[in-house]
Amino acid sequence: MICDNLKIIEKKIKRAAGRCRRNPDSIRLVAVSKRMTVDAVRKAAGCGQLLFGENYLQEAKEKIAAVGAPVSWHFIGRLQSNKAGQAARLFQMIETVDRLKIAVLLSNHCVNLGKNLDILIQVNVGREQRKSGVAPEDTAALLDKINALPNLTVRGLMTMPPFTQNPEEARPYFSSLRLLADDLTSSGLLGRNGPVELSMGMSRDFETAIEEGATLVRVGTAIFGPRS
Ligand SMILES: *Cc1c(COP(=O)(O)O)cnc(C)c1O
Repeated sequence: MICDNLKIIEKKIKRAAGRCRRNPDSIRLVAVSKRMTVDAVRKAAGCGQLLFGENYLQEAKEKIAAVGAPVSWHFIGRLQSNKAGQAARLFQMIETVDRLKIAVLLSNHCVNLGKNLDILIQVNVGREQRKSGVAPEDTAALLDKINALPNLTVRGLMTMPPFTQNPEEARPYFSSLRLLADDLTSSGLLGRNGPVELSMGMSRDFETAIEEGATLVRVGTAIFGPRS
């Protein structure tokens, strides 16, 4: 089941890339395994899916220890200051950095660990009160400060647009993240460390996100089925 779902998603990623003449290899699938079992992660890894996303530190800690190499993990949840140390240790990338305080903590922990950590800046493109993410107009100033921190490598931007049933309604938010990234790249604040990553799109709308430039799509339900 999980393998079949992964195959279907791979096909859809290829097709969406083809529609906009993008190289499908420039798009990575993050399998979102929150609230899924170790066994489900092992099954997905067994059919070649080696990148996973987790939202909750405690849950992730157990899974990461149980699954082991060669799987790698992105943190995609809301990061609390008191969990920054654990997050820095466990993950290859933190996709949800949205304030200086958390970046400084991650940087300090990484210096102590002797580790370099990839991060994305989470942007609240829908300007929703209850959602995390830096406001689009504040992203440049935040990046300017974060770029100066040791042992963190900013790879790009991430967003969670407002919930919509119809993926077309998410398209303007995806394109606005891409435009913001283009601006920041022109001004030298992004893209210093290789190609700019855009993490956007979930089960419902990842094909639309790819058409708008996503390089990381975070898909849970469409791989693992509904979360209980
Ligand atoms: C849960 C979650 C996803 C995956 O959502 P699905 O609709 O199950 O694909 C993606 N990104 C984030 C940040 C999430 O919390």
